[in-house]
Amino acid sequence: MSGPAHPWVVGVDLGGTNLRVAVFRELAAAAAAARRAGAPLAQQPAAVVRRPVGDDRRLETIVARIADAVKEVLGQVGVSRVAVVPVGVGVAAMLADRKGTVANSPHLGWRNAAFGPALAGTLGPARPIGVYNDVNAVTYGEYGVGAGAGSRDMLCVFVGTGIGGGLVVNGALAEGATSCAGEIGHVKVTWGDDAARCNCGGRGCVEAYVGGSYVQARIRRELAAGARSLAVDLAGGEITAVNPGHVDAAAAEGDPWALGLWTELAPLFAVALGNAITLLNPDRVVLGGGLFGRTPTLRDQSLLALSLVTPPPLLDPVDIVMAALADDAGLVGSALLADAGVSLV
Ligand SMILES: [Zn+2]
Repeated sequence: MSGPAHPWVVGVDLGGTNLRVAVFRELAAAAAAARRAGAPLAQQPAAVVRRPVGDDRRLETIVARIADAVKEVLGQVGVSRVAVVPVGVGVAAMLADRKGTVANSPHLGWRNAAFGPALAGTLGPARPIGVYNDVNAVTYGEYGVGAGAGSRDMLCVFVGTGIGGGLVVNGALAEGATSCAGEIGHVKVTWGDDAARCNCGGRGCVEAYVGGSYVQARIRRELAAGARSLAVDLAGGEITAVNPGHVDAAAAEGDPWALGLWTELAPLFAVALGNAITLLNPDRVVLGGGLFGRTPTLRDQSLLALSLVTPPPLLDPVDIVMAALADDAGLVGSALLADAGVSLV
């Protein structure tokens, strides 16, 4: 990490559906304050532009949309010397290098796309530009001003529809060779012909058991096959309306089917997380994502199981906390990374 802090910095979140562009003021100073305090210091953007990614996903079209949105958001705050404001972009993609080449993005339909060079060509040479994997950007946002503030070695794990993760080692984002360092979702928790199939093409990934879309599918499947549960009553009597939140509430009430399902899934998650903790020896683990946000019983069971599968000298020093920044983490993180000069294209 090096490079000067800039008074204004732009963060971009390029997802499969939405493009968000935000400008922040004095973000590096806020991160320094959060680090000193060891506590989150949520950063409101000075301005945000949001638009749909749109159906035309050609590289040049998306780059032009980003450039327009950057110009618009900086116009809203009246920044002078617009051409030198750093821009960090978090993209839902696997990156091939540190120059913003997208190896693969199923969301955008890109393969081997020279995204970073195209951005630099359009946004101009005077400007620091960084391209980051979106989960890495979220991780760094939590590290900088969120639930990871003040830590040194931090693992972030997001349990949403899938499971994503990112890693900060010795105060620096660990990107890995293809921006996938910390991707705990595809760590194997079992193997063999019976192992669950994962969207990545593999089998036995923790995501294929505990990722929200897999959990949802499993709930539907078992209830449709005749499993009886309080969760159905909690969902108004409709099997198709049952979501993991209902199952979690049923498990908290002692419902045998719901408890059985959570008792199967919690140790699988704990094994993946416990192995990561054993390998990496972090001082903080930040948990986030939509599924864990509405399944406190599953979360508690997972943490209980974690204590059984992780050596105490490695588990004891870990602060396990919930993510603090919600939807803005990626915008903050990509802005902080570009501001700090990390992996500029
Ligand atoms: Zn997988």
